[in-house]
Amino acid sequence: MDMEYKKNDIVTVEIQDISNEGEGIGKIEGYPFFVKDAIIGDVAQVRVTKVKKNYSFARLEKVIEPSPFRVEPVCPIHRQCGGCQIQAMDYERQLQFKESKIKNNLVRIGGFAPEFVDSVMEPIVGMEYPFRYRNKAQYPIGIDKEGNPVAGFYAGRTHSIIANTDCYLGAEENKEILEIILQYMKENHVSAYDETTGKGLIRHALIRKGFTSGELMVCLVINGKGNQALKQYLPSQEKLTKELAAISGMTSISVSINMENTNVIMGKEVHTIWGKESIRDTIHVRDTLNDFAPTDKGITFSISPLSFYQVNPVQTEKLYSLALAYAGLTGKENVWDLYCGIGTISLFLAGKARQVYGVEIVPQAIEDARENAKNNNIENVQFYVGKAEEVLPEKYEKEGISADVIVVDPPRKGCDGACLETMLKMQPDRIVYVSCDSATLARDLKVLCDGGYEVKKVRGVDQFGMTVHVETVVMLSRISSIVLLM
Ligand code: SAH
Repeated sequence: MDMEYKKNDIVTVEIQDISNEGEGIGKIEGYPFFVKDAIIGDVAQVRVTKVKKNYSFARLEKVIEPSPFRVEPVCPIHRQCGGCQIQAMDYERQLQFKESKIKNNLVRIGGFAPEFVDSVMEPIVGMEYPFRYRNKAQYPIGIDKEGNPVAGFYAGRTHSIIANTDCYLGAEENKEILEIILQYMKENHVSAYDETTGKGLIRHALIRKGFTSGELMVCLVINGKGNQALKQYLPSQEKLTKELAAISGMTSISVSINMENTNVIMGKEVHTIWGKESIRDTIHVRDTLNDFAPTDKGITFSISPLSFYQVNPVQTEKLYSLALAYAGLTGKENVWDLYCGIGTISLFLAGKARQVYGVEIVPQAIEDARENAKNNNIENVQFYVGKAEEVLPEKYEKEGISADVIVVDPPRKGCDGACLETMLKMQPDRIVYVSCDSATLARDLKVLCDGGYEVKKVRGVDQFGMTVHVETVVMLSRISSIVLLM
């Protein structure tokens, strides 16, 4: 039966859930409305903006009865920015939402019984302070209506910049750094890049901070090459570097050249114009499940402008601690770390394993991984560049390399079928699955469980407070080994 809602209709709904994109979901006679900025528990008047067959989008007009979970958002522009979809919801309720999101996906997509999921799920690991947690910010630079340079965020899915130099998820130093850059641009008539014309110089400012070292990095992404022989990439470059260098902790200032008409932020070419090429950060883990206090078993990573590095270092310690605990190593195991990035998890595993093998598709990341292993004097780890679904079968089938434990940490789309198939053939005792998307996680767990594995533990780790994203760590163990023993 067709629903008779049309654009601009005003309806009243009670919000019962939050979608994967962060909209509140309220239903009338089973027909759902997706309402941006509405949160679980709100009774709200909404205006229909787009009607689809099985659902509609609507805009929040008025909260009639505010949800008991509503809190005053700390950021004045959180609605326009859209980066923090659930900032108006109490943090404890955010965690509860994330936990049920994981559970629902395991039930709906993974086909696990709800009671079973309850029996294996451990309480989500939340953040102590869910703001100022990001160690990396990438601010687009543009001009406002008066022609002044601005830094900020793209509004929703658009390409217009909302000025804001102080995102509450980022480091406090970002503001001062950005204001120096904007002031420098103004005083020296340095232009901002314009996407539509492809003209103008400054595109983005990348800022990174090593939370444990206090070291700061600034990398300006520019549309131009400057005078490379003179190492002058920007007009009056010394003025800018002098001011930035005066900020306490400043360690590395660079430019990245990106002259392509693309929405990829960083250019491949990077030149350091002041200080060092990279900054350092140390991650500590411990291998017990419930005590996340940092230990002295730290590993130090050097991070250059193009390196991948987890953005929430405090929660990363907990995430890695959990992955290590789930791996249950004794020192005798051969361990594979698939989708290893710069080898962060691999290096922690190496401390408790016989031999670790890391696989990663980005060659630069593997270079960093090898460098990190060397700098921390870790020798029992080997890194391979390539797709997990190609490297693993090749090493297993041609070289007969075995696995006692396999750790995977794939991007959102999850593991490739060929990768899962080889994992099953290798019959490791345990598999630890670290996931940033519980939907593809659930899909892959189904395959692994059909192939002789059992889910033992599931735990969410909140790496991204105020947003709808959540990390999940799962421990699986092989059940068919019982058969082999008889
Ligand atoms: N475990 C790392 C990185 C996780 S992010 C950490 O915690 O820092 C996922 C990584 O998988 C990225 O580095 C990405 O480059 C890599 N990747 C994506 N597709 C891949 C594939 N098919 N095979 C191997 N690595 C892949």
